[in-house]
Amino acid sequence: MMTRRCALLLPLGVPLCGQSSAHEPAQLVVHWLPQPLFNGAPVLFRSKVYSGAAVWLGRKLEFRPDADGFSALAGVDVTCTPGNYPLALGSETVEVPVVERSYPSSTITVPPRFVEPPSSVRARIARESAIKRKVFASSPPERRWRGAFAAPADTHYTSSFGVRRTYNGKTQSVHQGLDYSAALGTEIRAANSGRVAVAQNMYFEGGFVVIDHGESIFTLYMHLSEFLVRAGDAVQTGEPIAKSGASGRVTGPHLHFAVRWQGAYLEPATLLTLWVA
Ligand SMILES: [Zn+2]
Repeated sequence: MMTRRCALLLPLGVPLCGQSSAHEPAQLVVHWLPQPLFNGAPVLFRSKVYSGAAVWLGRKLEFRPDADGFSALAGVDVTCTPGNYPLALGSETVEVPVVERSYPSSTITVPPRFVEPPSSVRARIARESAIKRKVFASSPPERRWRGAFAAPADTHYTSSFGVRRTYNGKTQSVHQGLDYSAALGTEIRAANSGRVAVAQNMYFEGGFVVIDHGESIFTLYMHLSEFLVRAGDAVQTGEPIAKSGASGRVTGPHLHFAVRWQGAYLEPATLLTLWVA
């Protein structure tokens, strides 16, 4: 009996595995960036031939046509441990290794009301949490983003993703985005095309914009001073969406830029490099 592995994508009518054929079936090849993959990384999978559904790390992906074949955007949760994780593409699997990246720690001092919010704002915080939950659960399966993601500001970033922060000596959390240095009023631009899902002030985020890029990929922009878009607006890559500020839980003016995919926050700096092959 033949044990040759089956090429995953054969044109209709081409003999399947185990059937004799004069042509050797092409091996399914999938490439990915970044190299190597690490916990917290956004991932761009590419294949010349494979389109459709895939599963990796328990999450569903979709390979869709792009300029150079088919691609799927995915991510590795920051808590993922190193190892080989099979990417399931129909009946085929490809082993995808993830290595460990260790993130630094820092301490930060903020006004006490942001560590222990007064009871007077609890209802507000609960309302805003409900808005965010609803937005993050309602991304359409269609891809609204196209090609490379662009930096939201021309400035450099001052605090990286993944830093374990201790606020005021007690409350601990992981920094879930990049902090761009941004003087008050700096123009902030959409990282990719999509639809504005949130453009409002919130207690922790301050002036807050969320862009839904489809496929459960969101970019988040915080501490803004002015909105240039409204919820529901369609935006294109590089389009001005807001002015930076110092609103919400901050120690000074800056932009907090975050990337969320299927509930996981991913490292934005790597997302911006995935299309440089
Ligand atoms: Zn931040």
